[in-house]
Amino acid sequence: MAEALIGLLRQMRFPALIVSMTSACGLAATELAYEPTDPVVAAPQPVAPAQSEQEEPPEELPEPRGPAPVVPGGDFEYVRFVKGSLHSHSTRSDGQLSIEDSLAAYAATGFDFVATTDHDYATVNDEFSRQGFVSLGGEEISPWFRKPDGNTVSPHVGSICGNGVTLGLTADGFPFWLGPPTAIEDPLVVNDVLVSSLVATIRQVREVAEALPVLNHPNFRRGLNSGILLRVSDEAPFSLLEIANQNDIVLTRPDATHEGDEEIWDVLLSAGHRVFGLATDDSHSGGAINQGWIQVASSGKSARQLCQDIARGRFYASTGVALSAILFRQGVLTLKVAAHESEAPSFETQFIGTGGVVLTTQLGLEPSIDTRAFDVSYVRAKVTYERSKMAWTQPIFLRYPEVHDERDR
Ligand SMILES: [Zn+2]
Ligand SMILES: [Zn+2]
Repeated sequence: MAEALIGLLRQMRFPALIVSMTSACGLAATELAYEPTDPVVAAPQPVAPAQSEQEEPPEELPEPRGPAPVVPGGDFEYVRFVKGSLHSHSTRSDGQLSIEDSLAAYAATGFDFVATTDHDYATVNDEFSRQGFVSLGGEEISPWFRKPDGNTVSPHVGSICGNGVTLGLTADGFPFWLGPPTAIEDPLVVNDVLVSSLVATIRQVREVAEALPVLNHPNFRRGLNSGILLRVSDEAPFSLLEIANQNDIVLTRPDATHEGDEEIWDVLLSAGHRVFGLATDDSHSGGAINQGWIQVASSGKSARQLCQDIARGRFYASTGVALSAILFRQGVLTLKVAAHESEAPSFETQFIGTGGVVLTTQLGLEPSIDTRAFDVSYVRAKVTYERSKMAWTQPIFLRYPEVHDERDR
């Protein structure tokens, strides 16, 4: 891959970048900083298929491996949550609030933690933490270039929980892998450039910033799609994907010719990639906070603990629906929606499986599904309130049709 990218850069006449890319790609692979050490969640177990007359022997399934951490698959109970934001900007880049004011506004709104992710400027874990509130490390690596049709594409990669090393800009002031904003004339090259660039960036996030990579807003300017992200994830797995970026100028939903963020997520999941979905503010002003967030089932409120729990997928994403519990026992997934009983008919839950297929839809405050009744590799839930407010649980991986391990490459 590195050779292909370097060849491409050579074609594009960026010799300085070729040098920096060569050294970057030559780094020894290091373990992700947040590999699980204590098994808080039971090791994933394949769920027994539904009983039938002629019982077939259970399929041998590979052990889960790879950069994604422990994935819920065994029984678990999430009943206590802490609320946080993983995408916000300050005056360190193009935000309107200073980082101190931004974090104070989040804390006043009931947030327990925030990762400030300024464009091409890294914040380190705990840089602004104070009593009862955790400031996580973050950066949004933010290159862009112009496509042959004149539109720009801005494939951004988030980096959270890292060591504070800024990745986004070279000493010349340009993104390290692309150089000055540029026009790419050959439309066939655009996707290859996107894939190579995203792969290089994700590897830098893991290896240099020792952080968790986030694939930001795939539909910003309709720049990415599932085909591109499957190629990226094959080469450089990422376990966090924004499925509900609430920035006003970001698109998330499908149209006649584009997949929505959730469809992209389901394509990745159906191909066996273990990806967790995020709702985010992508806030640039005080008025934009508290639109999209995550609720982490965390046993502690330190940066280290939160980062481990986020890496493990122990959270749900929300744009306004609150859950008081997510339970998975003996193959049965149950949600408890935090709302008054009188509002029960207004909450609709879809349980979604492989291929993005809706397995069942239920109204009420305690939707539930017996996953053993379905031949699917994963199940996730999406709760909708009055068409606009939602909550998304992370997928429960019931099988491992494909294993992705960066260390094998
Ligand atoms: Zn962005
Ligand atoms: Zn942003």
